[in-house]
Amino acid sequence: MASGTLHIDLAALAANWRALDAASDSATQTGAVVKANGYGLGAGRIARALAEAGARRFFVAMAEEGAAVRKALGPGPQICVFSGHMEGDTALVAEHDLTPMLNSVDQLTRHLEALPDQPFGIQLDTGMNRLGMERAEWAAVAEIALSRRPVLLMSHLACADEPDHPLNAHQLAEFKALTDGTGVPRSLSATGGILLGRDYHFDLTRPGIGLYGGLPFQDARPVVRLSLPVVQSRPIEEGESVGYGCGWVAQRPSIIATVSGGYADGLHRVLGNRVHLWAGDVPCPIAGRVSMDLITVDVTDLPEVPAALDILGPHQFVDDLAEAAGTIGYEMLTSLGARYERRYDGAAG
Ligand SMILES: *Cc1c(COP(=O)(O)O)cnc(C)c1O
Repeated sequence: MASGTLHIDLAALAANWRALDAASDSATQTGAVVKANGYGLGAGRIARALAEAGARRFFVAMAEEGAAVRKALGPGPQICVFSGHMEGDTALVAEHDLTPMLNSVDQLTRHLEALPDQPFGIQLDTGMNRLGMERAEWAAVAEIALSRRPVLLMSHLACADEPDHPLNAHQLAEFKALTDGTGVPRSLSATGGILLGRDYHFDLTRPGIGLYGGLPFQDARPVVRLSLPVVQSRPIEEGESVGYGCGWVAQRPSIIATVSGGYADGLHRVLGNRVHLWAGDVPCPIAGRVSMDLITVDVTDLPEVPAALDILGPHQFVDDLAEAAGTIGYEMLTSLGARYERRYDGAAG
C-alpha cells in the first residue's frame, strides 16, 4: 500500500482536553471544537474520544458538519453551529438536533419562525468583525431573544494567541457589557483565551487547536504522527541530480529513498529545503523538490533503507512543519490529505 499513514493518538487527544479542562476552575465547562472534520483528523472518531474524556458540548462551523458529528455521537451531547441558522439549514438542524449560534437579526427571525422550540445560542461581535451581532443590533433584539431563553451567549477573540495585545482586554470588557446580568451561560475563549486566565473563562470554553497538539498550547501532547512508505530506493553517484529541475546534486555517492506523499497531500512544496524526514531518531534531509505525490530523501547515513520515514512525529511537530511552510499549525493540520490512511491509536479513556 502506497498511501501514508496518519497515526492519531486518541489518548494524547484526551489528555490535552483534560489539561485544558484543568486550566479553568470546576465552574467552567470545557467544550470541544471539531470543525473541518476535526481539524483534519476525522470528526467522528475525534468527537467520540472527546465525549469519552468528558466533553458534552461540541462546536462545528456548519450544519452539515454538525449532522456528521451527531451521527457519530448519537443523542445527548449538544452540537453548536458557529455559522448559525442559514437558509436551507432548518431540516438539518431539526433532524440532527443542532444548536445554531445565531449571528444576526435575520438568523434570529428565521430560527424563531422555523423552529421555535429548537435550542439556540447567540453569537456577539466584540471586535473581531467576523461573525455575530454588534452592540446596536443586539440592543434592538436582546429582550426578545432573551425571552426565548438562549442556551449560550458567545463571542470570539481575535488576538488571544498574543497575551499582551490590547484587543483582548477590550473584547473582554465589551463581552461583559453586552452580557452582564442576562443570566445566560457565556463563552468567550478558544485555546488561546483559556491560556489568558480565569477572567476569560466564563461558563464554557471552546478549545480546538490545543486538543490536536498545536500552538498556542505549549504543553500539548503531540497527537499526530505521519509516516510515509518508501516506494523505491537507489544508489546514485557523486554529481548525479535528483528530482525536478535537478534541485539537488549528490556531493558524494548517495542512497536516495522515494517516499509516497507530496504537495497534493498537504506537504507544501516549500518544505523541500527546510525540513527532514525521520527514521526513528535519525533525521534524513529531503533531496530535491517536493513533487505532487512523492518526496525524495537522502538516506545515505542510515544502516539500511527503512520501510517508511516519518515527516511528523516526536522530533518534528505540526507547528515545526507549519513554520517551515510559512503558515500556522491550523492550516498544516487541515491540509493533511485525504489520501492518508487515518489510524487511531491509544485508548481514549
Ligand atoms: C475555530 C474556533 C474555535 C476554536 O479555536 P482554537 O484556536 O482552535 O482553539 C473557537 N471558537 C470559534 C468561534 C472558532 O471559530
